[in-house]
Amino acid sequence: MQTYDSLLAAVVAQQGGRPITDPATDDVVGYAPEHTAEHLERSIDAARAAQPAWAALGHGERARLLNEAADAVDASANALAQLITREQGKPLSGPGSRFEASAVSTWLRAAATTPLETEQLPTGDTANATLSYQPVGLVGAIGPWNWPAMIATWQFAPALRMGNAVIMKPSEYTPLSVLAVAAIVNQVLPVDVFTVLAGDRDMGATLTQHSAFGKLMFTGSIRTGKAIVQASAEQLPRLTLELGGNDPGIVLPDVDPDAIAEDLFWGAFINTGQTCACLKRLYVHESVYDAVVEALANIAAKMPTGPGTDEHNSLGPLTTKQQFGIVDDLVKQATDSGARVVTGADPDREASGNFYPTTLIADIDPDQPLVVEEQFGPALPIVKYTELEDAITQANALEVGLGASVWSADPQRGREVAARIQSGTVWINQHGTLHPRVPFGGVKGSGYGLEFGVDGLKAVALPQVISG
Ligand code: NAD
Repeated sequence: MQTYDSLLAAVVAQQGGRPITDPATDDVVGYAPEHTAEHLERSIDAARAAQPAWAALGHGERARLLNEAADAVDASANALAQLITREQGKPLSGPGSRFEASAVSTWLRAAATTPLETEQLPTGDTANATLSYQPVGLVGAIGPWNWPAMIATWQFAPALRMGNAVIMKPSEYTPLSVLAVAAIVNQVLPVDVFTVLAGDRDMGATLTQHSAFGKLMFTGSIRTGKAIVQASAEQLPRLTLELGGNDPGIVLPDVDPDAIAEDLFWGAFINTGQTCACLKRLYVHESVYDAVVEALANIAAKMPTGPGTDEHNSLGPLTTKQQFGIVDDLVKQATDSGARVVTGADPDREASGNFYPTTLIADIDPDQPLVVEEQFGPALPIVKYTELEDAITQANALEVGLGASVWSADPQRGREVAARIQSGTVWINQHGTLHPRVPFGGVKGSGYGLEFGVDGLKAVALPQVISG
């Protein structure tokens, strides 16, 4: 079992390193190692040497070790949660860093236990053909800063389960949390099958151009996703791209505003809005518009916000100053255009930390940048609609399609509307809920490939048909 101090000591640079600042206080949490292309080459050699024996263990033994790694995460969950809070900012409590640490072990166990059998293909005649999934060899993974430990696990756990070795580069803003996950699970796993290299964007680019990787998994922005497609074109690795989104929610006229308000609120503001699949633009029918806005405002007014290390707080700061600037700019453009500030929108720019108030913007033009661009922060635009057709058209108008939600007292009606929305997942009367056995992935500009469940295992393996 690790304490916060022992875990931090295990992951910080021995000397020098990149300062990682606490987004709540601007204090330095620790100095992250800055790995180089030379480290990458050495790690690739070591991973290639370790992978065949890992693959040869078979599904049963790998599953046993991944379950044991999950036990190790549970034993050190408090230390991991504290580190996530100090580095990334989300509060310890609520759907915060304790929740994220528990998701690491949940997704490890799911990757370990999801069954994947060889398929007898239904040929319809006497031809005999089977489909099975073989290890790729070496998987490269690159992650973002918003749910660093959980998203890393979404990438490395299924890849390991399928007999691959993994080299991962976390975001330069949150490398310590991912190095900490590796330090914990590598107490159990064979040496060199899972390596985390901390570095900046250039390190990411170097990894994606390398010929050693048969598969690359990327979670991050659309711009970087496109750069990875281009950079990897020469090597042709298989790709899973989980990119940005701008999730719409459509509220139908039959809802009870007070009954849905809390789920709407958390759908939008979980992790202070820094979640790929969270509610980023809300379309509400005119007959319930004022009541929904008021119900959301009542919840926002009561939501304790502040440093995540304080157990009392439910919302924390933005992780980076850059993200603060993006949110601030989008909200300013909206208010300059005449949109109504229901609450928030006026941050204390002199205060330390990256705190942006929980912000609701009503009566906003649907073409405003706050609506059509991804804010990735705590500012929800609420658009009024009269005709459902218009709301569906606007929901589908953007070049992204990660998540969406429909809110209705009639779930069947909700499903009918959901089927018309161009999005990888559409939730009914909830937003952003994920299950480790239910596939998750985007369409359109939000990327391609699925994570989680059987599909997630297949995505980190090579399909092989044997015929005859
Ligand atoms: P980002 O694209 O700026 O960075 C992500 C990672 O890519 C970082 O590790 C970075 O160092 C690396 N990188 C940057 N340039 C690179 C290059 N040229 N080649 C290789 N790697 C490179 O994204 P971010 O700001 O960390 O994350 C926020 C974005 O991620 C948002 O758009 C959000 O919606 C999206 N996101 C999507 C999901 C999902 O599951 N779909 C989950 C979380 C975040």
